[in-house]
Amino acid sequence: MNTIIAIKQLAKTLSLSNTITNIENILTNSIDKTNQQFLLELLQAEVALREQRSKERRFKQAFLPVTKTLESFDTTFQTSISDRQLAQLGELSWIESLHNLIFLGPPGVGKTHLSLALSSLALEAGYKVFFCSMDRLVHILKTAEISKSSGVRLKYIYTCDLVVIDELGYLPVTRNEANLFFQLVTKLYDTASLIITSNKGFEGWADIFGDTILATAMLDRLTHRCQVIPLSGESYRLTHRSDLFNS
Ligand code: ADP
Ligand code: MG
Repeated sequence: MNTIIAIKQLAKTLSLSNTITNIENILTNSIDKTNQQFLLELLQAEVALREQRSKERRFKQAFLPVTKTLESFDTTFQTSISDRQLAQLGELSWIESLHNLIFLGPPGVGKTHLSLALSSLALEAGYKVFFCSMDRLVHILKTAEISKSSGVRLKYIYTCDLVVIDELGYLPVTRNEANLFFQLVTKLYDTASLIITSNKGFEGWADIFGDTILATAMLDRLTHRCQVIPLSGESYRLTHRSDLFNS
């Protein structure tokens, strides 16, 4: 059998994707290389491709609605958080130590922006992340038993290092939904970091969940290892509103 075909078949058996598709180029470019150098580069290229694919897969499964960065966050506009604090959050040691972040504040102050930026950094760093609104999360929790896609999502959530729950408190939840959410928080307590954004301070959480005892137990778990980050000020959206018509 032709040697190249044999190499491709063996590469396929070993799932060496780069070797399968690029063996001709690899061999052409290897003429001046030592055996060691050749083998090293071949294996490095395989690992790089595998890591790239894994990152793409993780980004896809994270469901980030848009891409935001810490660099594009203007701390001269949002002065509740400093560049130094942002840089510290960007180091992601809070994920390693299973700390949660809770961004609190009115609409437009940058809660979702910062959550998305930190999600991207976590994904780049190799963590598994899932981003969703509270609304969508509640839907997933309620339909996990009857909907295949919700079941798959929930299973994925349980494997994540970081779960981002955006907009907690915009819509009230029923007693059953609150219980399901509480169970999720309890399950993730030892395995994942959470980022939660909310327009309501903790004093309003009993109203959101319709139950003071449940809200207290939830906050107890969520805030045990946690950085609460209150953001205040004007809405960035309103201040940077662009008009279609010039007056
Ligand atoms: P929130 O989630 O608090 O309602 P967002 O994070 O969605 O607010 O911010 C609304 C819009 O304004 C987004 O497009 C976001 O990128 C932008 N934005 C908010 N705060 C800042 C900021 N300090 N610097 C740059 N862009 C900002
Ligand atoms: Mg938001």
